[in-house]
Amino acid sequence: MPETVFEVDTDEPPDEQPSPIVNRWHPDVPPAASVEPGESFRMECLDWTGGQVNNDDSANDIRDMALDPNHHLSGPIEVEGAEPGDMLVVDILDLGPWPDREWGFTGIFEQDNGGGFLTDHFPNARKTIWDFDGVYTHSRHVEDVRFPGLAHPGIIGTAPSHDLLETWNERERALIDRGPEDETAVNHETREEEPPLALPPEPNDVLLGDMDEDEVEEAAEKAARTIPPRENAGNCDIKNLSRGSRVYIPVFVEGANLITGDLHFSQGDGEITFCGAIEFAGWIDLKVDLIKNGVEEMGTDHAMFKPGYQDPNFSDYVVFEGYSVDEDGTQHYKNSTVAMRRACLDAIEYLTNFGYTREQAYFILSTVPVESRIAGIVDLPNTCVTVSVPNEVFDIDIDPDTLAEEASVGDRGDVAKPS
Ligand code: ZN
Repeated sequence: MPETVFEVDTDEPPDEQPSPIVNRWHPDVPPAASVEPGESFRMECLDWTGGQVNNDDSANDIRDMALDPNHHLSGPIEVEGAEPGDMLVVDILDLGPWPDREWGFTGIFEQDNGGGFLTDHFPNARKTIWDFDGVYTHSRHVEDVRFPGLAHPGIIGTAPSHDLLETWNERERALIDRGPEDETAVNHETREEEPPLALPPEPNDVLLGDMDEDEVEEAAEKAARTIPPRENAGNCDIKNLSRGSRVYIPVFVEGANLITGDLHFSQGDGEITFCGAIEFAGWIDLKVDLIKNGVEEMGTDHAMFKPGYQDPNFSDYVVFEGYSVDEDGTQHYKNSTVAMRRACLDAIEYLTNFGYTREQAYFILSTVPVESRIAGIVDLPNTCVTVSVPNEVFDIDIDPDTLAEEASVGDRGDVAKPS
């Protein structure tokens, strides 16, 4: 077992951890530990909410969640000899839960507290708890579904330089000031408030590791939120970035300052419920190396990924198609988000044929290894997006040919609601 260089304690709050938690991107967060190129090491991670969600049957914790302090992440880890312009190579050796904590959660967030991809259709907080049996998972809140997880870190990235941080803040602020590009894609009738287009720096509840208290106040005004993926990889949520994967991340500061966390036991492409993966607290084993001057040699200033070879070998998919026409019949111009939404809504309606509630179906799409692809992006005016649901994750048969036999049989339980 590799040496643990970052420790957490799930019985303690985020600001009283054995190793100091970080929840923003900033160049000046001091490293929590140092490793050499070629070294393997273990990092322990809180779940992304810092322990705000309980293993119970009430969604009060999702409804009332404090969002400002998220994500709770582990690091930074200094890689000796790393300099700006190098490429950091990170091998994901293994990850998992602790033996006495083999469970995870998925949430649908309140429309005015987090929301989610289909928040217009699912405005209320809901939760599912998932239990782990080795590589398998199942939920008392979504019965007759069981599948092997493709565990992966939702977030892995290097610290930005001061210049890059400035670029992020400027371009995201410009979007907020500019407003939505496709005004018609926002359903104003069902929304009380305009959804935010980006999340500018939020000084409330900032954790910047071991940074001196007097420095934190100033840094918190500029430190970037960890919500979107950016040049440093970050919250990429690539569901196949599991054991055996390799990530190449540009180095922007001396030592690279690697940060990871937001561990997912499994996730469908798109992570659509927002807290859309099976989120868990646990450990991850990494090995790092450096490609000196790799940014120039590889000809990219972005992260690159080589997913590993471990995959559930599903072969029997039911595929749903969406295109750029929204629910009220409005035609959009090559809008892939609308197309994805329509494919998901179709899949949800279809799964209700088998006794699942619409909320359970939403959770299924978000957590099982659903494959989503842009099938066509050139056929004016519609982008075609497909959502492929593996039949093998169900104890029943969801094949359209057997619909008449399997339809509406059985009670599949229900998701957790606010109590
Ligand atoms: Zn996550």
